[in-house]
This record gives sequence, structure tokens and C-alpha cells, in this order.
Amino acid sequence: AKYVYTFGNGKAEGNVSMKNLIGGKGANLAEMNLIGVPVPPGFTITTEVCTIYTQQGHDAAVSAIKKEVEEAVALIEDLTNTKFGDKDNPCLVSVRSGARVSMPGMMDTVLNLGLNDLAVQGIAKKSGNERFAWDSYRRFVQMYGDVVLGMKPESKEDIDPFEAIMEDLKEEKGIELDTQFTTEDLKLLVIRFKEAVLKVTGRSFPDDPWEQLWGAVSAVFDSWMNERAIYYRKLNNFPAEWGTAVNVQAMVYGNMGETSATGVAFTRDAATGEDIFNGEYLINAQGEDVVAGTRTPQQITLEGSKRWAELAEVSEEVRKAEFPSLEETMPRLYQELMEIQEKLENHYKDMQDLEFTIQDGKLWLLQTRSGKRTGAAMVKIAVDMLEQGMIDEKTALMRIEPNKLDELLHPVFDTTALESAKILAKGLPASPGAATGQIVFFADEASKYENSILVRIETSPEDLEGMNIARGILTARGGMTSHAAVVARGMGKCCVSGAGAVKINYKTRVMTIDGKDYQEGDWISLNGTTGQVFDGKVKTMNPDLGGDFGKVMNLSDKFARMTVRTNADTPNDAKVARDFGAQGIGLCRTEHMFFEGARIKAMREMILSSTVEGREKALAKLLPYQREDFEGIFEAMEGYGVTVRLLDPPLHEFVPHQQATQKELAEEMGISLDAVKSKISDLEEFNPMLGHRGCRLGITYPEITAMQARAIIEAALNLKAKGVDARPEIMVPLVGTVAEFKNQADIIRSTAEKVFEEKGDRIDYLVGTMIEIPRAALTADHIAAEADFFSFGTNDLTQMTLGYSRDDAGKFLPDYLEKGILKQDPFQVLDQNGVGILVQMGVEKGRSVKEKLKVGICGEHGGEPSSVEFCDGVNLDYVSCSPYRVPIARVAAALANI
Ligand code: PEP
Ligand code: MG
Repeated sequence: AKYVYTFGNGKAEGNVSMKNLIGGKGANLAEMNLIGVPVPPGFTITTEVCTIYTQQGHDAAVSAIKKEVEEAVALIEDLTNTKFGDKDNPCLVSVRSGARVSMPGMMDTVLNLGLNDLAVQGIAKKSGNERFAWDSYRRFVQMYGDVVLGMKPESKEDIDPFEAIMEDLKEEKGIELDTQFTTEDLKLLVIRFKEAVLKVTGRSFPDDPWEQLWGAVSAVFDSWMNERAIYYRKLNNFPAEWGTAVNVQAMVYGNMGETSATGVAFTRDAATGEDIFNGEYLINAQGEDVVAGTRTPQQITLEGSKRWAELAEVSEEVRKAEFPSLEETMPRLYQELMEIQEKLENHYKDMQDLEFTIQDGKLWLLQTRSGKRTGAAMVKIAVDMLEQGMIDEKTALMRIEPNKLDELLHPVFDTTALESAKILAKGLPASPGAATGQIVFFADEASKYENSILVRIETSPEDLEGMNIARGILTARGGMTSHAAVVARGMGKCCVSGAGAVKINYKTRVMTIDGKDYQEGDWISLNGTTGQVFDGKVKTMNPDLGGDFGKVMNLSDKFARMTVRTNADTPNDAKVARDFGAQGIGLCRTEHMFFEGARIKAMREMILSSTVEGREKALAKLLPYQREDFEGIFEAMEGYGVTVRLLDPPLHEFVPHQQATQKELAEEMGISLDAVKSKISDLEEFNPMLGHRGCRLGITYPEITAMQARAIIEAALNLKAKGVDARPEIMVPLVGTVAEFKNQADIIRSTAEKVFEEKGDRIDYLVGTMIEIPRAALTADHIAAEADFFSFGTNDLTQMTLGYSRDDAGKFLPDYLEKGILKQDPFQVLDQNGVGILVQMGVEKGRSVKEKLKVGICGEHGGEPSSVEFCDGVNLDYVSCSPYRVPIARVAAALANI
């Protein structure tokens, strides 16, 4: 097999279609070569080798690729006219990971690999800059020590051993900045660094470039299984089997002096989606300097620079003198970069995220990939590219990641509340949104408060998990392409970066702004859209969902086969969902209707009475409430089907459990407290989820079913009299045998006939069932003969198929996920190979006797994109989900059908 793919000088063995094999980064490096973009030569070791490495170990992997790697290194040497470890003309390379999708911060890069005591002389000679050579060398030893030799401190409070050595030397020398180190200082640092390596690892620092290279390659493969990478995969549902590729590439230097630079750019705005080329760069800097947030990066375009200055409150004079744009400092290279970014976007037909380096006046591209973006940017870019004629409608839809739409549906700051809010500081609008929460200073403490704001000088890949938990992120340092900014945009998390006025003391856990202290736990608010930081809590309001969002929704409806309904129990939820595009209600749970005010009393009276007459009397009190509720909901969903489910939970959930309330109830009903207590203990069950609930209640107490059916039919007739088109669909829960269904359907239908007669008018209505017990799916042909429709209750169906209690699974599911026994929580993502088979069987058996049988789903899975796709595949007519997931389900339904 071929395990190594080379690229360079306009040629490449790989291309963009080979991401699974050579990773996203490798595929794009190859592709850039093929379309004539200048890329330093190099090679990619395939993801298959990662699998060999993890399964068979280091030696097996090395022996599989040794020869190919040697040949590939020779090619780099050839193309760059250098030699590994040479004292005159050494070949230096970078080593980077590259999975098939980008995983930010999975493994830090190793730069300058190949340096040793001889090679450093070569670099000094070649560059004519001895200090530069030694600075590169000390950076290399440090990076290699941290990343490959595992010297990076475990705990966030511990300082990096190499940083400590540098601090000591600064103190000895009475200097403050890294840039003040002399060449001799740097030489001393290399010696001390190597001593530290020997002391900590018990082995001397490897001087042989080949040993260095194999060490770095192994470290990349190891990083695939590190905690951060595992967490990131879990967050995104990426399987461990993918593995990572390794990219080895000739070094180019952005830190060779004033004619060198390095930067990061986006072909469009990753926060808002605007079609504006933008990015940041630093003159005389190396790769990570721009994203690490240690120096304030400068804007690439003049326009961007001016915008930045305004936000950062920097005068035009200072901007021009200290933070000029690349457009101003290196106009020719800026022009070249402009052309390349255009070429790349037109080639990939998507927003690109680029890394480039200028070495002594020559521009090199180090990376291109489709850029991470916020939900808002995702929508705008897809719609803009469609309207610009770059992509077609289907492609535009495929650019929409349904779950990311969630970000757009959430509240923004209330405009009037903003007027009176106190601004504490201003940073960069790194990732839009509104966040209010309590300050925490460490990522692993983000869950300390329900709403936390992570406040950091800068963030690093270790902080990923905490960033995800926090409501928002505030950093004192770093630009629009800092780690915090990029990661936050990817997560759709509100982030303000580089708020220079914010001073943070991790030791005392205090943030100071303009002399005022803010402690851990204090409330602040962030506006990620403007970069403002506010004191305390700021009120929020609903976002505007017209414009591009509306266009995406319309496009979805054009391509979707299934319709989307909502699960709603109140007229208000129904309205919200209808505004989000719901076409009907797939599940109206009626139980909540029994809880408010006087209703719960009547309900309890019904439960406690031991005669049919007593129950009917109590139910008669409930009837008007129910009817009124249904009128509200039917009206809100006028013209669409509304599936009302009959009472489902066990009665025990409705009785009082506190002595005082029990006493009150006893007095009201004129019975003894003991009688009340004994009835309540009668209702107690060992396993209520498999107990007296669902249609079993209606079978024991037919008067409940009759009352609910009457309330539904009367409500619909009342509306009809007012000219409102109500379309009730009455649904029986927890059916396992056709006889259960028939029993309930008979009560419903005869009640409806009675009401029609009383009112002298009729309406159309349906009587159907939930399919949520495995036996119902297995006997769906029998049930379909009697039922007008099916709705899969995949919450209970999952519970009963897997035998996992919905209420107790939280105790062991995390272990199952951790150990890989389950890939996903089956209560969130439909278990397609198990529960899904029952769903498919239910549909097929049902339609085998009733070809046009209407079938939907109303379990939680109805709003989860991969489950929605499955539902489309098994020919459901609709999915039903909570109001806020309706837009997500609409797009998912369209994507499923494209
Ligand atoms: C279900 O079981 O999937 C369902 C929708 O009903 P509930 O969640 O109310 O049990
Ligand atoms: Mg259920």
C-alpha cells in the first residue's frame, strides 16, 4: 500500500477528494499545489498509518513507511536545495496533525524540526542572522519538549518549565521582553532547555533530525488519543477509527526580519458572513504568534484596519504608525494574497480560512480549509453564494448544518435594556451573541454556576470543554483569529476577545477594570456582536428571523418531502412553533392541563372518589377547562392537524405528597386524612413507567377518555361555529394490542357521535394511536386496521426496546458512552439499528393494510437531524418536535430528501 503522498512545486500525489486518506489539511495542501498556489513542498503520511500505529504500535508503523518517508524527505531536500542536519544548508520542516475534519488544538505544531548544534550554524549563515537562527533553535527545543517529550505542565497553575527558565534568565539579565535576549542569551537558553529535558525525561534531547522526525510523527499519532481530541470527537460525534494524518512540510519563515510576516485570513467574515476579505498578520513573526494572542495582530486590509481602530479606540495616527494594514505595509504581496484568496474561494466555492507566511518578500500559503463560522454567517454565506451564482440551491442547503441554526433562534440583548446598561470595557466582536453570567477564571470551573462567563487572559486548547459549558467567553488578549475567537465561533458561543482594559489575576481570582475589582461569581454580560462588556445582567429579547434565515427555510420546504409539526401543549407554544414554520401539532400532551389552580383539585377529587358517579361529577368540573384549552390550541393551529393525546401519566403523579396538602384535600372532600393517605399509597407503583398509565387508565376509567373526547369534539365544533377550521386528531397512548386500541376508539367515536347529535353539527376528526410499545410495532398491521394514524413515541419505544428506564438511565449511560458501548445517547439520537427497525416494521406493516396510513414521530428524536433523516428514509409523513427545533427539523427534512 501507499502510505506517503508528496506535494510541491505545482505537483501533488493527492488531491482534495482524498480527505479521508490524507486528512483535510493534506488534501488541501495537495490541491493548492495543483491549482498553482505557492505552497512549501512536503508530504502527508496517511490516516491508515495512524490505525497501524494505534493497533500494532510504533515499530510496525515506522517499518511500514520508513522507505517512503525517506524518499519524501529527499524530495523536499531536492526542491529546497537543502539537506537534513546539514551545517551549511540544513533542511528544516514543520510537523502537523491533520484529521479528515479540522480539530482545532488537537496537537500543537512542531516547527523548525531538523535543528541541532550543526544545523543552527547553517541557518545563521543562510539567513545572515545569527540571532534569528538561535531564536528558532530555542523555540524548537521548547516546542519539541512540550509537544513531543510531554514536558507541558499538566495543571493550569503550573508554569511551563521552558517559560520558567526564560523568566529566570530575564531576571538575571535585568530585562523584560523576549526580544531583548541577545544571541548569547539564546545560546544559553538552548543549553538550559536541554538540561531541563534531560532532568525531566531522563534522556538527552535528540540531535539526530531523523530521530526528531520519528518522535514528532509518533506524537501526532499519540495526540489522536489524547483527552482533548477524544472530547472534541465526542462533542462532534466523530469516530476514533478515522485516525489522523501527519503533514511534514519545508519550513518557511515569517520571522526573518521586516520583509517577512505571517498571518491568518478569511475570504468572508466568519462572524457575520459578510462578503469581505479579512484577517490578521504580524510582521517578523512565526506561525503561532498571530493566534496565541501574545502580540496584538494587525489587520490585513486597510478597511479592516480602520474598523478595528475604531473598535479598539485607537487614533488614526497611532493606527498608521503602530498597527498598519498589510495593504499599506506590503502592497504588492497584499495584491498577490487578494488574488490567491479569490482563486481559492472560487475553486472551493466556500468561505476559506487561510494561513500564509511571507518569507523575505515571497508569499507562501500554508493552509486552506473551509472556515468555521457562526450560525448567522453560515446562513448568510450560503444565501449570498447562491445569489452570487457560485452554488446551486441544493448546495446552498447542504451548507446548512441544521443544529447550528439553534444559535440564531436564541435571544439577543433587548435594545432598550442596552441603552441603560453600564459598559465596563470594549474588546473585539469575536463571536456574536448575547451572554449573561457569573465570572469564572478557569475552564474546568465553568460548570460552577448555571450561567458562567469564562474570563481568561487568553484561552488554549485545554479550555475547550469549559468554553463549551460557559455561556460566553471574555479574553483580555488576542485578536479575531485568536484561539478563543476561532473556537467560540465554531461553537456558536458568544465571545469578546482582546479586551485590553481587563486585567486578570488568576491567583486572587479577580478581574480589574479601571481600578474596579470583579470577583469570581460576579455577574457580567457580553455582547459578542459589538465587543461590549457590561456590568451585571442585561435583559434579552427574541431575534429577528426574516431575511436570509427565511430564505433558507423556504428553500428547505421546497426540497423536503416530510412536513414538520410541533409538540406543543399551550396556544403560546403553538404560536411560536407556527412562526417557526410548524405545520400542525404532532403531540399535545394533555396532562399539564390538569395542574393549574382549580383543575388540580377537581382532578384529585376524581382520583380519590371510589365510584363512577363520583368520578363523573369531578370530571364534569374538568370538562370546561379542557374544552377551553383545546379551543385555544386549535385556533392557534387553524387549518392544520392537531394531535391531542389522551391522559398518559400514572395517577400517582397528580396526588399531593405533602401532609399539609393531603389534610386540606381530606377536609375539602369530607373524608378522613387516613382515607386520603391510603388511596395515595394504593396508587404507588414499583415501576410506574410500566404500570397503570396510558390507555390502561382509560380502560380502567372509561369516563376519563369520554370526558377528554367530549372536550376535544366540543371545542372543535365551537370553533367551527365561529368559522375557525379546527382539525382534531385524537391519539391513544401506550397501546400494545389492537384490543386496547379498539376499546378506547369505541369510547371516543361513540362520545363524538353523541356530541354531534347534541350540537346538530359534525366535523371530521381522526382517531389514531401512538406506537411506543414494541408489541404495537410488531402487530402494527392489526392495529392499522382500526386506527386512522400512527405516531411513533420513540421515547417510550426506546425505553422499552433497550430496557433502559427513561428516568434512571442517566446513572449508567455516561459509562456506556465513555466505554464506547453506545456511540450515542439513544434517547437523543434514534437507535437506528434497533429501535429504528421497529419503526420501519411498524410503518411497513401498518401500510400493508392501509396504504395511505398517516404516520409520524413525536418522540424527542423528531428534532434531531440524523433521526429526521432516518424518518425520511422509512417514509414517515411528518416529524414533530419542540417549537425551537422546528427550523432545524425543516432543514434536516430537506437535506434528507436531497
Ligand atoms: C414518547 O414516548 O415518545 C412520547 C412522545 O410520549 P411521552 O414522552 O409523553 O411518553
Ligand atoms: Mg410515551
